[in-house]
Amino acid sequence: ARALLDVRSLRIAFPASPAPVRVVDGVDLAVEAGETVCIVGESGCGKSMTALSLLRLVPSPGQIATGSSIVFDGQDLLSLDERSLRAVRGRQMAMIFQEPMTALNPVLTVGDQIAEVVRVHTKCSAREAWTRAVEMLSQVGIADAAARARQYPHELSGGMRQRVMIAMALVLSPKLVIADEPTTALDVTIQAQILDLLRTMRERSGLALLLITHDLGVVAEMASRVLVMYAGRVVEEAPVQELFASPSHPYTEGLMAAMPRLGQEQDRLTTIRGSVPPPNALPSGCTFRDRCPHAFDRCAQEEPALLTVGSLHRVRCHLVEEPQRRRLPVTEGAA
Ligand code: SF4
Ligand code: MG
Repeated sequence: ARALLDVRSLRIAFPASPAPVRVVDGVDLAVEAGETVCIVGESGCGKSMTALSLLRLVPSPGQIATGSSIVFDGQDLLSLDERSLRAVRGRQMAMIFQEPMTALNPVLTVGDQIAEVVRVHTKCSAREAWTRAVEMLSQVGIADAAARARQYPHELSGGMRQRVMIAMALVLSPKLVIADEPTTALDVTIQAQILDLLRTMRERSGLALLLITHDLGVVAEMASRVLVMYAGRVVEEAPVQELFASPSHPYTEGLMAAMPRLGQEQDRLTTIRGSVPPPNALPSGCTFRDRCPHAFDRCAQEEPALLTVGSLHRVRCHLVEEPQRRRLPVTEGAA
């Protein structure tokens, strides 16, 4: 049986001269009903673009390339007309963005905005839609929901606005929610509360969650499966425990080394040297080689394939076939 969401060979390109620039290049991604999958990577690695493409919201002039396939709940999303696509968006698949302030309408009360989503997709009355909106606000932990529903976005705190976004995403009981950095703009305490809320809502309603984040702490807390993206490609994929127990791609190892740990001085973080190359200036061979401490001659000549190293664990690195090329770790002071 096919996964709830089944993405194959996803390529997203922007027209450019002399050749189109591929910002996402050959991503395969499956999300089963009820599971939480995280896509992790630095900014510029293509994870947000991947998320947007699932709702066919790639900003113009970007385009999903021919040969890509996105099948959601048995429907081929890339061949749906606008009308059928609108029915999928919001109702069956919803998105939560990082910045609720830009996603919410400033001149409508939050209750009206949620009720509007209900009315667009169902045949219920204005009164029923309003009741549903207030119920939903209360379910996402907003106290005194009936009064809050009459407020405008600017009257609410950042954390509360993100709760409103979650209420809006969940009000029609979608099968899949895509959340792009849903807690990044919030302070640490509120972040934890919002992650808790997402987890509770997922358990309660059995929805599947695709979570996009740069934060491995969020991954550890939320994911059942993880895809690590770099320069528009998936470079490692594994169940969450396996990824943390045996990260295998040098990029994943770098991300883990840079992860802040409890009780450790955090002002001198280990980081991966350099930055993600722009998609129009990728190095030949392995796109990570400029930053990789293990790079060897083959890495400049040949792009590594995504190779299987465990039953559900795949890694895009030549070290899988030539483990003897791995350099010994450099000692970097006591941990
Ligand atoms: Fe590093 Fe080579 Fe592996 Fe790329 S293929 S991650 S450069 S060792
Ligand atoms: Mg992003």
